[in-house]
Amino acid sequence: MGNIFQKIIDREIPATIVYEDDQALAFKDINPGAPFHVLVIPKQAIANVGAMTAADEQIVGHCLLVCQKVAAEAGLTDYRVVSNNGEGAGQSVFHLHFHVLGGRPLKWPPG
Ligand code: 5GP
Repeated sequence: MGNIFQKIIDREIPATIVYEDDQALAFKDINPGAPFHVLVIPKQAIANVGAMTAADEQIVGHCLLVCQKVAAEAGLTDYRVVSNNGEGAGQSVFHLHFHVLGGRPLKWPPG
């Protein structure tokens, strides 16, 4: 029993997976906010950045390298990596994830 991303890790629900290794998974967002919108998650259950501990440093750094990899493989040089922390910041799934968005001009701040 877990959240929707744990079910994707466990292959209980389908997703378009673009990268996987022993520590991380990357798959297309079901409701893309840009032509390229991939979510990168650790396989380890961490709710969000606010729930990280020092023990999570390596896995989170690894996830950022996976963000770099999936963006590079898509031919993107300009892209955004963002992680929403808490409902008030737009977090809806409480399993740490990095959104990788690209393929269109991205304005800042996002609003
Ligand atoms: P958050 O709002 O927590 O920052 O981001 C959660 C993201 O997960 C959203 O962009 C949403 O579209 C995506 N999402 C929610 N449920 C699913 C799902 O079942 N499959 C996939 N591929 N993405 C999902």
